[in-house]
Amino acid sequence: MATDILASPATLSHTQAKVFKNFIDGEWVESSTGETFENRNPADTRDLVGIFQKSAKADVDAAVEAAKSAFAKWRLVPAPRRAELVFRAAEILIERKEEHAREMTREMGKVLKETRGDVQEAIDAAYYNAGEGRRMFGPTVPSELPNKFAMAVRQPVGICGMITPWNFPMAISSWKLLPAIVCGNTCVIKPAQDTPASTFNLVRAFTDAGVPKGVVNIVTGFGPDVGTPLAEHPDVRAISLTGSSAVGRIIGGIAAKSFKHCSLELGGKNPMIVLDDANLDLAIEGGLWGGFGTTGQRCTATSRIIVQKGIYREFVERYVARAKKLKVGNGLDETVDMGPAINEKQLQTDLSYVEIGRNEGAKLVCGGDRLDKGEYQHGWFMEPTVFIDVDQKMRIAQEEIFGPVVSIIACDGLEDAIEIANNIEYGLSSAIYTKDVNKAFAAMRDLYAGITYINAPTIGAEVHLPFGGTKATGNGHREGGIGALDFYTEWKSIYVDYSDTLQKAQIDRVD
Ligand code: NAD
Ligand code: MN
Repeated sequence: MATDILASPATLSHTQAKVFKNFIDGEWVESSTGETFENRNPADTRDLVGIFQKSAKADVDAAVEAAKSAFAKWRLVPAPRRAELVFRAAEILIERKEEHAREMTREMGKVLKETRGDVQEAIDAAYYNAGEGRRMFGPTVPSELPNKFAMAVRQPVGICGMITPWNFPMAISSWKLLPAIVCGNTCVIKPAQDTPASTFNLVRAFTDAGVPKGVVNIVTGFGPDVGTPLAEHPDVRAISLTGSSAVGRIIGGIAAKSFKHCSLELGGKNPMIVLDDANLDLAIEGGLWGGFGTTGQRCTATSRIIVQKGIYREFVERYVARAKKLKVGNGLDETVDMGPAINEKQLQTDLSYVEIGRNEGAKLVCGGDRLDKGEYQHGWFMEPTVFIDVDQKMRIAQEEIFGPVVSIIACDGLEDAIEIANNIEYGLSSAIYTKDVNKAFAAMRDLYAGITYINAPTIGAEVHLPFGGTKATGNGHREGGIGALDFYTEWKSIYVDYSDTLQKAQIDRVD
């Protein structure tokens, strides 16, 4: 029976694992392929978090059809009423925060304090976007002609497709779904195959809050099987991807052919500059959190630390001493600092970059090895890894690794540091540690990135500010804040001529 499987999960008697079906038009439905895939805990692969549908184009078509019929009604629900449901969803998420955080740690490995933050981000985004239900301001302006009224209103785009990564499984889904539904759109989301459970938890809060059937649909599966047909579907008018630049290139190409709105939030290789006058304790603390938080698997991870020569040796010595003491393990243990890599493939990538760095002549001073003995034997763990004396042109200083591998680069001073920082294909986040206000302001102006932190590491974002980056990090859109409204709405300019005569703009004027 297609009842609420999430509230009362169906179980497979032989594994006791939850089976998740696709969520289409308020019903739980099996994929057209009849195939499933497993979601396992990367800290202990014996732990099966759930079994999910391995879907295909036919499932995407069904979900888009559901979104299409829901859109006819949802777009006409007054925005403040749509927003009330989102406020209610926020309250539900607060009640379930701890439960969802624990399940997220199981499905993707980051430590509990971070998964609590991930759920909190969805709560914050819910409050922020629900507030927009009574705003969505548009300009009302004077007309150039007499007896004529002029204004612009935001209208929903229509059916929106969303494709998400695994590193912020609830936060990133919420950044897309919440503004979309408050603006009156309906959605089909394809969560990352490593972390679908957290998207189900988010959407369950929406349905429990009363969001009508068909407004949000979930189709699980792999990128080419589900993400591509979703992006290609002619009825999908907006497609939003957060993921790698390689996949962004594919989705951007597909979207261009049918003139869809397309928002791409992609990779990063984020620099943190530490100048001679910096508070060194603070910079070391920040560099550890930025480099090894989420096992280095953040788009905003501090993967390059650019240190001025006067303090270089001291910084390196103290940073490495601290990195060696970080406790690696299962994120459910509150004393653990760093969890595993998301999966075997990512771990292999991380380890391969250790080899690449060695061969390029960088000096490995911390970590570099896989951890697979004792408590680590069932997970995808590696040591926090630091390379020093890295040249900015090396691959480890240029390519996104997405693991716990930090490259430290020496620089002569502010100008040199900014040049090194900007000399990269990405432009997501950036940071500078200095006590000199002049240098801080110069960096705020000259770092070519979507985010600049002063005296804090590159990671972390607040939901009401624009989030996104330059160059290969995206295509100019921003999530968070007002940028999301611009993406999920179309402007419509409305003119009301109450003159009872034919008036011609630009033509009927007395010069
Ligand atoms: P990924 O690009 O491998 O996958 C992202 C999503 O795209 C997944 O849902 C995947 O199934 C789907 N996908 C893969 N191939 C596809 C295809 N051919 N067609 C359609 N969909 C496809 O990325 P990931 O490994 O999940 O996440 C890590 C990447 O995401 C990193 O590059 C990271 O920097 C980036 N990221 C960016 C941000 C940001 O906001 N800028 C935030 C988090 C992560
Ligand atoms: Mn998983």
